[in-house]
Amino acid sequence: MTQRPSKRSLSKEAQKLRLRPGWNPHERLPTVREDQLRQSIEDQRVAATFDDADQCEACAKAREEQDDLEALCSEHLRKAMGL
Ligand SMILES: [Zn+2]
Repeated sequence: MTQRPSKRSLSKEAQKLRLRPGWNPHERLPTVREDQLRQSIEDQRVAATFDDADQCEACAKAREEQDDLEALCSEHLRKAMGL
């Protein structure tokens, strides 16, 4: 069984993504407001993805197979991660 990130760990994953080159704070210094805006866009994207996932057959199957109510199919997992 492959381990997929849960809804709760997704924001941690997103934080890791921000540490990639390109998100380097030394290259680009976002203001607090920009940062909050990005976080809220991200929260909305994750919430919208989970709303979509509730209607998705592949997600329903993943949830059943993994016995995890927050499991996502690979497509929705990528969407939730913003990839
Ligand atoms: Zn899905």
